[in-house]
Amino acid sequence: MRRAVFLDRDGVVNRAILREGRPYPPASLSDLRVLPGVREACRKLHEVGFALILITNQPDIARGSVSAAEVSEINNLLQRFLQLDDIRMCPHDDAAHCSCRKPRPGLLLDAARAWDINLGESYIVGDRWRDVEAGQRAGCQAVFVDYGYRERRPDAPYLRVRSLREAAAWIVQKAQMGALCHA
Ligand SMILES: [Mg+2]
Ligand SMILES: [Zn+2]
Repeated sequence: MRRAVFLDRDGVVNRAILREGRPYPPASLSDLRVLPGVREACRKLHEVGFALILITNQPDIARGSVSAAEVSEINNLLQRFLQLDDIRMCPHDDAAHCSCRKPRPGLLLDAARAWDINLGESYIVGDRWRDVEAGQRAGCQAVFVDYGYRERRPDAPYLRVRSLREAAAWIVQKAQMGALCHA
């Protein structure tokens, strides 16, 4: 079985657009900015053997303010630029009661089946409570990128960091320590 790092998209991989203290996705490809250190962080996580899987809620598709094709354009570019192994997206809003919208763990559970992933040795990195909870419910360790958004905070347990760069350094260190113990 493999291990994975599940990455939230907006606010973790690329810069989120802030309005009244809350984060929103870039409206189009021209607003897309990958955050500093993200490409290097992804490279390091790959090197120590993690699969990298983007898991993203994009409810603006259900709300009709953006098309699935526009979202896919951003996703595909990120996948190529960061060498992501897979991208899993929920295009629904709450009204759909789907199993994939975070905080539900459906995206992670489906990816775990497809990629033969041991969720107990995997991580989620997200910037909102929905990400942290989805990871916890799937049995992963959660890392919270804390920007101090004006919204509810995740419930413990999680590791609090400032960036994916910081999260990756911690995950890589833990993986290397684990390897020493199993030697
Ligand atoms: Mg986010
Ligand atoms: Zn969904």
